[in-house]
Amino acid sequence: APGLYVVSTPIGNLEDITLRALRVLRSATLVLAEDTRHTRQLLTHFGISTPLHSFHQHNERQKEALVLRQLRQGAAIALVSDAGTPAINDPGADLVAAAAAEGLPVIPVPGASAVLAGLVASGLPTRQFLYCGFTAPKSGARQKQFAALAAQEATLIFYVSPHSLLAALGDAAAVLGPGRRCCLARELTKRHEELWRGTLQEAVDEFTERGPRGEFVLLIEGGTAGAAAAGAPGGGEVGEADIVAA
Ligand code: SAM
Repeated sequence: APGLYVVSTPIGNLEDITLRALRVLRSATLVLAEDTRHTRQLLTHFGISTPLHSFHQHNERQKEALVLRQLRQGAAIALVSDAGTPAINDPGADLVAAAAAEGLPVIPVPGASAVLAGLVASGLPTRQFLYCGFTAPKSGARQKQFAALAAQEATLIFYVSPHSLLAALGDAAAVLGPGRRCCLARELTKRHEELWRGTLQEAVDEFTERGPRGEFVLLIEGGTAGAAAAGAPGGGEVGEADIVAA
């Protein structure tokens, strides 16, 4: 059937592709891929030879008009990213918005995403969670990002690049309090998958010692009522001095 299919692909383990994703990718008119070489490997692995077109951060806007025209003409277009679910810190959100605004069909084909995979294995509350995207690249902006979330009761979920992991953990401990619980979900679905759990300060110590390697999702327990004022959640035991020292 015609429409824009938003197709999730694995975040590591190829077995996480879904049967439906394979069928959609096989029968689509074309596949829009963040990196055509990367996606070609995936499709080849599954014996799929659908034409690939590049669709990434830098050509997203130019390609949009072309894709919308093809959708209007009844094409079935599959959108994928390098890993996981498109439009979640990956290209696609603007294209989906444009297609939706025209009333063109948009069909999600759900599957792997590091956000949910990390959350469900973190051991932190799942009843409410807030996906916050990547931690800001610079310390000042990152501290503001954490400060704005200090009173948030939902479990906080961030993507963090390995080179900013230590600095991000340090800022989180300083702003949210060193005793707040967190989980680092590392290399999900891959050979070196790890769910590391502890407090923010323990995370700083641990990952300073061993060095941050691999892909990470950082999950931080939500604040409790009054946490923002106290500067630290879970009771006012942590004083100003501790926060400065952290
Ligand atoms: N759209 C993707 C998704 O749905 O998961 C996320 C793309 S984002 C550009 C890439 C970031 O996601 C990485 O820097 C890392 O924080 C996280 N990530 C992706 N795969 C991961 C994995 N296997 N284990 C842990 N984190 C992962």
